[in-house]
Amino acid sequence: MADLSLPRPGCCKWAEGDSGNYTFPCSNRVEPGVSYCEDHRSIVYIPPEERRRNRSGGGMSLSFRRAA
Ligand SMILES: [Zn+2]
Repeated sequence: MADLSLPRPGCCKWAEGDSGNYTFPCSNRVEPGVSYCEDHRSIVYIPPEERRRNRSGGGMSLSFRRAA
């Protein structure tokens, strides 16, 4: 059976669900040492309001980093 309760090595660790009941529905491949695929990395590291504001920047030219 497919165990979705743990992230798979080499795959995106994007989690969905409530605390204590996560699934890892994204099976995109990632580089070793990288947690998320491109799509989910942009979601994880950039808040939705900043994504909207920054939308006209054009994809990969993310020159600013958010100081957490
Ligand atoms: Zn992903």
